[in-house]
Amino acid sequence: MEEERKKSLNQIEELQKDDPFTDPDHISDNAAVDTDVREQVGHATIEAQINDVKKRVEEIDNALKKINKNQYGYCERCKKSTPQARLKLIPEASFCIDCEKHLRK
Ligand SMILES: [Zn+2]
Repeated sequence: MEEERKKSLNQIEELQKDDPFTDPDHISDNAAVDTDVREQVGHATIEAQINDVKKRVEEIDNALKKINKNQYGYCERCKKSTPQARLKLIPEASFCIDCEKHLRK
């Protein structure tokens, strides 16, 4: 899971590099309006992707914290242990399948 976290952090860095707003040429070459619009859209898309990855890192952080507190593998809602099969699939899962379904309703 630490690996996964590192990967996600790298992903954020990569995405930030792709963000036209962080392009050093951005300020100097701002003549064409349609270029600017394209950059806006590109920026919004990348920002949304970064937020997604950040959320994932947060979930992983939470799971790691729980491992430290020996609470890992227990549902945060019903406190029952989460099946190993589910943890293998989603290591950072905070809820058992039943609770997750309940929360998504
Ligand atoms: Zn539960």
